[in-house]
Amino acid sequence: MRAIAIHPRLGGSLQSRDVRRPSIDDVPGGRGVLVRTLRVGLCGTDREIVDGLFGTAPAGDDYLVIGHESLGRVVEVGSGVAPELAIGTLVVATVRRPGDSLYDRLGMQDFTTDTPIERGINGQHGFLSESYVEDTTYLVPLPASLEAVGVLLEPMSIAEKGLNQATEIQRRLRVWRPVRAAVTGAGTIGLLVTLVLRLRGVDVTVLSRRTPPYRNSELAEALGARYLSTEATDLAAASDAHGPFDLIFEASGNSPFAFEAARVLAANGVLVLSGVTGGERPLEIDANAINQGFVLGNKVMVGTVNASRDDFVRGVEDLLRAEAVHPGWLAQLLTTRVDGLGDAATVLAALEDRDAIKAFVEVRGGDDPALG
Ligand code: BGC
Repeated sequence: MRAIAIHPRLGGSLQSRDVRRPSIDDVPGGRGVLVRTLRVGLCGTDREIVDGLFGTAPAGDDYLVIGHESLGRVVEVGSGVAPELAIGTLVVATVRRPGDSLYDRLGMQDFTTDTPIERGINGQHGFLSESYVEDTTYLVPLPASLEAVGVLLEPMSIAEKGLNQATEIQRRLRVWRPVRAAVTGAGTIGLLVTLVLRLRGVDVTVLSRRTPPYRNSELAEALGARYLSTEATDLAAASDAHGPFDLIFEASGNSPFAFEAARVLAANGVLVLSGVTGGERPLEIDANAINQGFVLGNKVMVGTVNASRDDFVRGVEDLLRAEAVHPGWLAQLLTTRVDGLGDAATVLAALEDRDAIKAFVEVRGGDDPALG
């Protein structure tokens, strides 16, 4: 069957190739599910993998099928598969698979202390192929009404995990409830975080570089959030005008924002960092002020990566809520479509499209009769 793959750590190796069709018997105990791939989203991590900066192949292969933001339909199930995954069900697979650490053994691989195993990223093939087989444990069912936007569930799970971590941590304060929040970055994750916060009634200020109006600023404003360009203001001024911010979510991958945010965070506030930033970026900061602010203000800064199955399930609920409260909003994130798995160059072009919010491959239409 067709797939889009790379040779890990080799920039320029993106290719459309034939790979072995998986079988439900690849998973022991009758727990295998064969999923026909409908769509796969592309993100910054894929970009790094394609550029040769990130990614490892499964043992025994010299290539890695990419793609970790999946949406598919169940076509065949083993005898031990959960009844909620009946044939025809729309599903999204989680990304991380357990290693050996205590966290992994408890099903908390999003908190692994091992080198992470991640489908389409580290050590296991991804979903950018006509079909894939997965263990029933790692599949999340979606209602049929979410078919058009379900490919956003994986990035949504990243937003959900970060916000859920903030809530868990803030239980320490008994009565904490975020009233005002700032989100730095207006890409897919920043916009999805803004969505979830707005669904919870929080006043949200989004800060990103580009001068409004443009598509992303309009999408933030359509949720009732306020969009500010960092060309015209900074977090400190935004905090004076619209804060103090009880919660700040860094989703831009511009690491200096982390320290600006640490400086302006409200007393008792929580700062969530989600950007994966490679390379070096030395920066001069006012360490005393940040340190003192954290001490005297009882503040917390937390990093977040990946997501648990529960975060995906919460993501399904919020996708449904979003469709009810802001109909049509989610679909507007799906800006850039690539058709089929035949041409790696079109995938590369989509990954390089700076104006895209979410680029995705429409896999459906593969010609394998076995997939129905
Ligand atoms: C994925 C996460 C993954 C992270 C690091 C992100 O793009 O959404 O699931 O853990 O990359 O590899």
